[in-house]
Amino acid sequence: MKRIYLDYAATAPCDPEVQKAMEPYFFHKFGNPSSIHSFGQEAKHAIEDAREMLASFLGAKPEEIIFTSGGTESDNTAISGVAYALQAKGNHIITTAIEHHAVSETCKALEKRGFVVTAVGVDKQGLVDPEDIKKSITDKTILISVMHANNEIGTIQPIADIGKIARAKGIYFHTDAVQTVGHIPVNVDEQNIDLLSLSAHKFYGPKGVGALYVRKGTRMERFLHGGDQERGRRASTQNTTGIVGLGKAVELCKKNMREEMKILTLLRDRMIKEIPAKIPDTILNGHAAKRLPNNANFSIKYIEGESMLLSLDMLGIAASTGSACTSSSLEPSHVLLAIGLKHEVAHGSLRLTLGRWSRKEDIDYLLEHLPKVVENLRAMSPLYEKK
Ligand code: PLP
Repeated sequence: MKRIYLDYAATAPCDPEVQKAMEPYFFHKFGNPSSIHSFGQEAKHAIEDAREMLASFLGAKPEEIIFTSGGTESDNTAISGVAYALQAKGNHIITTAIEHHAVSETCKALEKRGFVVTAVGVDKQGLVDPEDIKKSITDKTILISVMHANNEIGTIQPIADIGKIARAKGIYFHTDAVQTVGHIPVNVDEQNIDLLSLSAHKFYGPKGVGALYVRKGTRMERFLHGGDQERGRRASTQNTTGIVGLGKAVELCKKNMREEMKILTLLRDRMIKEIPAKIPDTILNGHAAKRLPNNANFSIKYIEGESMLLSLDMLGIAASTGSACTSSSLEPSHVLLAIGLKHEVAHGSLRLTLGRWSRKEDIDYLLEHLPKVVENLRAMSPLYEKK
């Protein structure tokens, strides 16, 4: 059976070149990067090379990069770290209604500890209005956290404008760029970003490794206590192998990203044009133009997303209804509710996300089978009968 992967937003395969770069660090180059002997120094140099590679990709300085275990740890560290460092100054955090749980659950945990969180809403296309952020600022606001692009509907936020507002008020600005780094350009200076989270497995690196950019001079409490690795900002022996993989993945994105953006945009736009044309009562979720080159998200009315995923899976097509982290929950996506969809429409969502190995033939196969899957499910749907 054909196997077609259309769930790159959940995770991407590790590029074979990344795998090759990592291999020596599993065995021959296994030293602890904190050791002073040659084994340790070899590992340390590899980490510093990856740090330089990532820093230059983001327009940052190497000393502003902290390696972490992934996007979730980076988000937790940034938000809790700034909140606790600045609690004497204020207790107000501004975020949005469509953040990944790595951000929203961290904010909820802080609310239990006396912080006050404002979650700004979005419009029907999932865009945050920078004016709404501005209006939410109080003299107690210490942090603004707005994701760069949404993991479900792909809408890209006006990050530079929001960063400008934060900068003018002297408030730290964090962005969860887990879905954007390696896929669209990111530059911390041009976009006025003070803290930025990323994760290697979203851009063809290994799982379980990520990074947090922290602008020089930013006050942030450490999250993991212990040794003085990462300049005392993140304890624990570094994941040398993973960091080498992250560095190589960045190098490949630096080389390929512009071209990949063009190719994926064409494939994405074909899905956006043809799926609603072939399947009546289907709407595109997210912004038509301000969206990730690899993301298409639809609400297909009168059916249930999970049944559609299972039917597609039986045909070898891997897709998703939304965030992989909440896929076991029966609750409709908070992102789709935030853009104003009714519960029953939000339940029929389908996220199709592309990547480095997506091909025209994959989309041909999808376009051939998806309409039939929907037709079969609708034939059994009481909602469709009542239509
Ligand atoms: N933030 C966003 C926007 C994501 O899409 C994800 C992963 O799906 C995360 C954070 C969490 O990243 P990780 O899986 O590396 O912890």
